[in-house]
Amino acid sequence: MLSKKEEFLAQIGRVVKTCHNCRLWRGATHAVPGAGNPNAAIMFVGEGPGYHEDKLGLPFVGRAGNLLDRLLARNGIKREEVFITNVVKHRPPDNRAPMKDETRACLPYLLQQIKVIGPKVIVPLGRSALEVFLKDKTISDMHGRGFKVGNRIIFPLYHPAAALRSPSVLQILERDFRSLMEIMRGKTLPEEIEIKSKDKNQMKLI
Ligand code: URA
Repeated sequence: MLSKKEEFLAQIGRVVKTCHNCRLWRGATHAVPGAGNPNAAIMFVGEGPGYHEDKLGLPFVGRAGNLLDRLLARNGIKREEVFITNVVKHRPPDNRAPMKDETRACLPYLLQQIKVIGPKVIVPLGRSALEVFLKDKTISDMHGRGFKVGNRIIFPLYHPAAALRSPSVLQILERDFRSLMEIMRGKTLPEEIEIKSKDKNQMKLI
């Protein structure tokens, strides 16, 4: 029997699969709502499904996903322990970044997933995901640091695809992953961050 959380997540998934709230569904083969542990303490949020994810309906199953799996494994975490999703749930054409209206249209699903799972730490992967959680910040400034937002910690990382393109980014990502583990274990504390008043309502939902 499914737990209440599994039922809620499955329900979100069903709505996502028939969602026409933006243009992205037109070019997609499968929606990719997200996958993982409904009780995850860590939730990874990527940008949007790529070619392989679109084919299988699962997040991070291509080369970037393999790297994410390796980083998790090296830090003693199984993929089944975490929850992995994306800002947009249908593949943007040619893997372009999601447009603002697409992100806005898809945001309610991400917020619902966060509410159901209740992760301690949310890890935006790359610029597009960072923008959802911490506005007007750059990934180069924020990566590898934990920020307290309400009851959660936002811990941005470089996108694994960027690390596949650059050995120096890979090195940073490996180091940041170790810092993520320290935050998870309570060995380091998150930083306080000021949220602009116009963003406060969204932050309350996180
Ligand atoms: N890149 C992403 O941002 N998300 C995926 O699911 C796969 C690759």
